[in-house]
This record gives sequence, C-alpha cells and structure tokens, in this order.
Amino acid sequence: MPHVKELLVDELQDLLDAEEQLTEALPKMVEAAKSPNLKEAFQKHLTQTQGQVERLQKVFELLGEPAEAKPCKAMMGLIKEGNETIEEGADKDPLAADLALIAAAQKVEHYEIASYGTVRVMAKQIGEIEAARLLSHTLGEEESADFLLTAIADPLLQQATLDDMNGDVNLKSLQKRPNGKRGTPAKSRTGKA
Ligand code: ZN
Ligand code: FE
Ligand code: FE
Ligand code: FE
Repeated sequence: MPHVKELLVDELQDLLDAEEQLTEALPKMVEAAKSPNLKEAFQKHLTQTQGQVERLQKVFELLGEPAEAKPCKAMMGLIKEGNETIEEGADKDPLAADLALIAAAQKVEHYEIASYGTVRVMAKQIGEIEAARLLSHTLGEEESADFLLTAIADPLLQQATLDDMNGDVNLKSLQKRPNGKRGTPAKSRTGKA
C-alpha cells in the first residue's frame, strides 16, 4: 500500500475505535449532566457519533479496506478522565459539576477535530475526494459540538461567578462588626447594587 494511504488507514482505524468508545461513554455523560440543555447536547452528539461510526465504515469501503478498529489509547485516557469527572461531580455543586463535564467533553472534541483534520487532508491528497467529503462532514459536526459546549458553558460560568460573589458578600455580612451591627447587605444579582 502506498505510504500516504497506509497512514490514512492507520489513522482511520484509530478514529473508528475512538468513535466506538464514545458511543459507549456518551450515555453516561447524558445521565450525569444536570442542566437540560447540556443533557440535550450530549444526547444529540451521541446520535451524531453513531452516524460518524457509519460514515467511517463508508470511508473504509471507499478505500477498499476492511473497517478494522485499532485501540485508541488517547480516547481511553480522555474517557477515563471523563469518568473521574462524573464521579467527582456527585459531590459538587450542579453548576461546577456541569462545567467540569463540559471541560472533559471539549477535550474529546478537540482530539477528534485534530484527527479528522488530518485524515481529511490525507484523503484529499491521494485523490479520495468522496472520502474527504465524508470526513469533512464529520469534522464539521465535531466543530459544532465544540462551539455548542462553549455556548452552554458561558451562562453557567457567569452564574457560578455570581454565586461565588454572593457567597463572599453573605459571609462578610454575617461577620459581626465591633459595634454589633452587621455588614453591608448582599449585592443584588443584577450587579447594579
Ligand atoms: Zn471521535
Ligand atoms: Fe465523533
Ligand atoms: Fe487515537
Ligand atoms: Fe465528537
């Protein structure tokens, strides 16, 4: 097999395993997510990921190679970290738990974005235009998933910051002053106090 095609097939075997691992990991993320829109995003990406496995099988077919998966150790590690995040989230505030889940999920998406960027370029290089098109399609889905997670994280992060500020002010207001009066009341949530 020519070198570039061999490299491409090798990367695709790794990706096939990575995606298969994700179809098993994502249901746990759906279950662990606290905010409904994060749950929905993981659920949607699970469906997409099942489609990505099929798309990869189609790419193997186009290349005339068997769709064999080769263990992706990087994805094993990322999923292991994700599982740790899920376990630790049980003792966390829901906002913090969701933000940690998003962080773990975005690491997965970035690994996939790097991988699909590589295989798309290799497929194009050897003139496998239909394979390149299919891989571009998945790359787009991974990028959208990453953007969506950033968009979901943003208001959660704002809320967590406000909660931190209010917690701080409430603590101070509970500390008695020497004259027996309590401190200033907590700021309003609009931030206009
Ligand atoms: Zn993947
Ligand atoms: Fe994927
Ligand atoms: Fe890998
Ligand atoms: Fe993905």
